[in-house]
Amino acid sequence: MKVERKQSVVLVPFLLQGHLTPMLQLGSILRSQGFSVIVAHTQHNTPNYSNHPEFIFHSMDDGLKGIDMSLPSVKSIYRMNESCKAPLRNYLVRMMEQEQEQEQEQDVQGDQLTCIIYDNNMFFVDDVATQLRIPSIVLHTFSAACMNSMVTIFQQPEKYFPFEDSQLLDPLPELHPLRFKDVPIPAFNNTVAEHILDFFRAMSDIGSSVATIWNTMQDLESSMLLRLQEHYKVPFFPIGPLHKMAPLASSTSILEEDNSCIEWLDRQAPNSVLYVSLGSLVRIDDKELIETAWGLANSDQPFLWVIRPGSVSGFQCPEVLPDGFEKMVGERGRIVKWAPQKQVLAHPAVAGFFTHCGWNSTLESILEEVPLICRPFVADQPVTARYLSQIYKVGFELEVIERTVIEKTVRKLMLSEEGKDVKKRVVDMKQNIVAAMQIDGTSHKNLNDLVDFISALPSRPAPPTPVFGAIMSSNHITSKCIIESGSNF
Ligand code: UDP
Repeated sequence: MKVERKQSVVLVPFLLQGHLTPMLQLGSILRSQGFSVIVAHTQHNTPNYSNHPEFIFHSMDDGLKGIDMSLPSVKSIYRMNESCKAPLRNYLVRMMEQEQEQEQEQDVQGDQLTCIIYDNNMFFVDDVATQLRIPSIVLHTFSAACMNSMVTIFQQPEKYFPFEDSQLLDPLPELHPLRFKDVPIPAFNNTVAEHILDFFRAMSDIGSSVATIWNTMQDLESSMLLRLQEHYKVPFFPIGPLHKMAPLASSTSILEEDNSCIEWLDRQAPNSVLYVSLGSLVRIDDKELIETAWGLANSDQPFLWVIRPGSVSGFQCPEVLPDGFEKMVGERGRIVKWAPQKQVLAHPAVAGFFTHCGWNSTLESILEEVPLICRPFVADQPVTARYLSQIYKVGFELEVIERTVIEKTVRKLMLSEEGKDVKKRVVDMKQNIVAAMQIDGTSHKNLNDLVDFISALPSRPAPPTPVFGAIMSSNHITSKCIIESGSNF
């Protein structure tokens, strides 16, 4: 399966943790298949280079200096897409020039730029790739169910927006098991602004890309993937779960992980701890934090709780925790700012995961046989929560954020017969996913097909001279990264 000649792929991840991680995991997979991997990333949330000596990194001026990106706005994402265009184009042109020089000198050692793989939020890449005639492939970092619901909504947005408060819990039969409140396009005052709809359209549009890669499994989402493939009409490569398909387990965390919680977990009884984390982006208000705190405290179950700095509007932790909370829970509860989540979920002490249902967290939890309490917020999270609770039945959805409901739900997951059934189903679900990763499994086969597909992509014709000339005049290539990594470019 290894490629004969070293071909290079350029990866363009989106700057959020939940997007950066799967792209780096895809990079590790492609590296292990013989490709050389270049990661062209934004300055905001620069990945930790030292964790990935196998990659060449190129930093792009993202135009985001001085902009608060703790909750990125649509405007800032457009701005970043616009700003990154020239840096990426210039970098690629420089690579292509060097390739041409090597060809002229009949130097067969040089890598060959084969394709660009980009996160669907980095939609500017399509323009650059088309202009330079480099094949591009889109990576989707969330579920096919979520993308399918978006594509369905775009066809007739007036069917879904605006809606009445009284309709929030009404089912959407064509999007079963979703209800109005679960649609993945954020609504304000029960309607969606045209510019938000346009943004979601832009990130769902694969432009002239020649294929799509999915961090999901064909067996799990076959009908959704088929529907989407009819829509997009390009080859699909569902090769998830990327975190398990990737050969290297190096950390992809932007924030520093507090490993001391593993020692704390070591001291807990097997299958006794609830892990609580709402991912890298969610921000809650102090009321929700207080209800959650008392819900956890009153459940009487040990818990490990990630409270990310900045994740409670207007407060720093621990000042926002209610009086008497820490005294009441004592050693039974542990709070950290950021955890080594995959290690936590794999720990034998962990019995449940109270999650916002980010797609990475979801896959990481299922693959460690950890059932879930779903507390979704926006975008793909409500869709995933519905699938987890209604279709796969591996979790309970928390619809009301009140201490008594939280306490009851935690105890249901950790102590009840219903909780045991949910645990059994998550074990089965994990086994099915593991089967997809085996030699004859779908993710494994799809990965082989993806490697063959990339390897067989046609060589590019030389880009037209005027484009070259214009771009060569401003050379943005970061020679530091190239020299340090010893690349041939
Ligand atoms: N994560 C982590 N430590 C934490 C919380 C989260 O390492 O304390 C990681 C988690 O393992 C996952 C990612 O951050 O890979 C979050 O991605 P996800 O798609 O679940 O949610 P998002 O942060 O994008 O909302």
